[in-house]
Amino acid sequence: MQILQEKVALVTGGARGIGKAVCEELAGCGARIAVVDVAAETARATAEELQRQGCDARHYSADVSSPQDAENMIKNVLADFGRLDILINNAGITRDNLLMRMKEEEWDQVIAVNLKGTFNCIKAATRPLIKARSGKIVNIASVVGVMGNAGQANYSASKAGVIGLTKSAAKELASRNIQVNAVAPGYIETEMTGKLSDQAREEFLSHIPLHRPGVSEDVARAVRFLASKDADYITGQVLNIDGGMVM
Ligand code: NDP
Repeated sequence: MQILQEKVALVTGGARGIGKAVCEELAGCGARIAVVDVAAETARATAEELQRQGCDARHYSADVSSPQDAENMIKNVLADFGRLDILINNAGITRDNLLMRMKEEEWDQVIAVNLKGTFNCIKAATRPLIKARSGKIVNIASVVGVMGNAGQANYSASKAGVIGLTKSAAKELASRNIQVNAVAPGYIETEMTGKLSDQAREEFLSHIPLHRPGVSEDVARAVRFLASKDADYITGQVLNIDGGMVM
């Protein structure tokens, strides 16, 4: 019996990058997967790939920054799969700029998707998880939520917020046997980091003791652990996946 057999996992931003690797990792452990993304087409493509690998996967289009979308997404997943066991809040964006130049909309968009989006999805998922008296929530934060980063005041603040939200939710939901944890990736090669300049990349690498960028699978394996019963006695924690960048 596989460790996530019969479990239903919802992954936001699951169509590509780290989210897609998480979908594949959880599917490989027997989970049934709800792939959520703003873009329906990419979500469909990922769900179809998972189906070809034998996974019971479906796709849903939702903008996590909208409370209504988050509510509908959970409602539809429950209608289709009959249950929800694991929520992975992975959807995230960057709108980098120096503080002095940062536009109000760059601040607002990043907070809306990364922080409010995580809140919206947790809020919408809480009722069914409480009813089931079990569940796992894993939020994707970032090391810059702990250490800050020049040019990413909005993003760092959103990820620091995700860490505070994780700990508060962990305390509120512990009595219902729902564990809430976060992973904080460092520098992981995806489309998001593909936008970084060579200089920024070198700067990151110089601070990584393992001296290589991470790959999405490095994050996905840690998420799988926190989403499994092996992590039943772990809650409110932030696990850095960063090659040793933050110690
Ligand atoms: P990508 O940009 O590669 O993927 C992000 C995914 O989220 C995309 O599928 C995107 O959809 C989706 N998404 C964006 N906005 C929304 C929204 N409003 N509602 C639903 N889905 C949305 O990012 P990564 O894979 O690199 O990052 C995944 C997570 O990991 C993010 O939270 C990021 O902050 C975090 N992280 C990444 C690090 C890295 O080094 N890459 C380091 C630390 C943290 P679409 O394709 O339609 O835009």
